[in-house]
Amino acid sequence: MKSHRIKVAIIGAGISGLLCACELERLRPYSVVLEKEPEVGGHVRSFVEKGYTYDVGLHLFLGGYSYLIPFLKKAAVRMRYIGEGAVFYHEKKFYRLERKISSILKFRLLDFTDRVKILTTANRILKSDIDYFMRYDEEDFASWCEKNLSRKVLENFYAPVVKSVTFLSPEQVSSGLWLQAEKIRIQERENLAVYYPERDVETGGLSVVSKALKWYCERMGSEVWTNNEVKKIVIEDEKVKGIEYIHEGVEDFLEVPFTVFTGPIINLLNLVSEKHFPRDFRERIKNFKYTHVIAIQIGLDRSITDHRVAILMPNKLVTVAAQILPPYGIVAPPGKSLLAGTCITPSILNKTDDEIMDILIEDLKDPFPEIEDHILWTKVLKIKNAIEAQSPGIMSLKLDTNRTPVEGLYLAGNYANNDNWHSTIEGAARSGHNCAKLIEQDAEVLLTR
Ligand SMILES: Cc1cc2nc3c(=O)[nH]c(=O)nc-3n(C[C@H](O)[C@H](O)[C@H](O)COP(=O)(O)OP(=O)(O)OC[C@H]3O[C@@H](n4cnc5c(N)ncnc54)[C@H](O)[C@@H]3O)c2cc1C
Repeated sequence: MKSHRIKVAIIGAGISGLLCACELERLRPYSVVLEKEPEVGGHVRSFVEKGYTYDVGLHLFLGGYSYLIPFLKKAAVRMRYIGEGAVFYHEKKFYRLERKISSILKFRLLDFTDRVKILTTANRILKSDIDYFMRYDEEDFASWCEKNLSRKVLENFYAPVVKSVTFLSPEQVSSGLWLQAEKIRIQERENLAVYYPERDVETGGLSVVSKALKWYCERMGSEVWTNNEVKKIVIEDEKVKGIEYIHEGVEDFLEVPFTVFTGPIINLLNLVSEKHFPRDFRERIKNFKYTHVIAIQIGLDRSITDHRVAILMPNKLVTVAAQILPPYGIVAPPGKSLLAGTCITPSILNKTDDEIMDILIEDLKDPFPEIEDHILWTKVLKIKNAIEAQSPGIMSLKLDTNRTPVEGLYLAGNYANNDNWHSTIEGAARSGHNCAKLIEQDAEVLLTR
């Protein structure tokens, strides 16, 4: 442990925290990532139950993740290419959406006029700069659509797709190219690391991604302390003095000039007294909204669809699902295929896991009529405050910096500057990168004062 010489304390070993540590250059040997959970990864993590490893929710790695995917390669994570495009389910039919936005013209769900309308709108928005988006957002993009687009376009297209790609440029919009982390074992001996695909190991899926990033961080000189919860960020004279944290019931204090917070931004006010922030900054923090998510995994004794990319189902309880064929990343009970899905309907959150699964299976019988006859096992996971709600006006809330008004206190995570990749792993990764660069820049001034 090198606590006597630490200069940067990063709170949270999710993708943003780990990337922040990895991307510090000069300060990396003087940095530590503190994670309250026993495992790293935050939402990009797996958990073990009765000897099987499950992922915390379905995660799609899109082709446009031009920062994260090359970085993962550097950290020796091999990704398996699954396929391109996304599938859209509506009124008993599957429609394929491909990489190019112009493929919408072939999107037969909508009539020709609607297709042209949405295409021109999407292209106009996508080609514009960020100020243009902001104006749309301020005026409430949803109500603008309400006025200008037909109900059919709104319900069937705007909601699931335009909303999620609004802030990306056309070449970044690969609607569903996705990759899956292979099961990889990391073997390390005398500075030599070997990664190889593994058939029967305890680790797989998302945990491969976060464990490889942790390993990369450590090899590059940073430390990662799990089971360490930060309770308070101590500020004196409007500057960070250090952090109070707790490890196995023992409280401790770490003196550091730089601290990065990566948890949900609404929790920042539990660690820092409000009085240190100007009013507008406090209001922004309080206005962020998060959505609870139910992640499901269903093991099946046969494949139930030929589609291998994500299936968007905006009018269903499970809004996005994907069928994954063996060898899947997660180490779940054996089966011929696995259906993973995400549901953001708050009304069923209070029900038991069995009740939730019954409701969702009933709903899934529409796109997959035979599903019920092929289920081997099911898994339900409720994740509180999991993702940011993309409500109208969200752009004016987003922070376009990773600095806070307190000297030495920084933010990384989807709400902070992330090159407009909101609510994605790519965004988390970029915010970590951007934050690291700012700290290095500020350290030049602060540490030589
Ligand atoms: C079900 C689900 C599906 C998703 N699907 C996709 C997808 O398909 N594609 C995609 O790009 N994105 C997806 N996302 C979003 C993606 O998971 C997140 O954007 C990303 O993981 C956020 O990373 P983060 O580091 O910012 O935050 P987190 O992953 O939340 O990490 C924050 C970490 O900080 C720790 N922490 C918090 N407070 C403290 C404290 N006081 N002391 C110590 N540690 C603390 C937490 O334990 C956590 O590990 C999905 C999210 C969910 C929940």
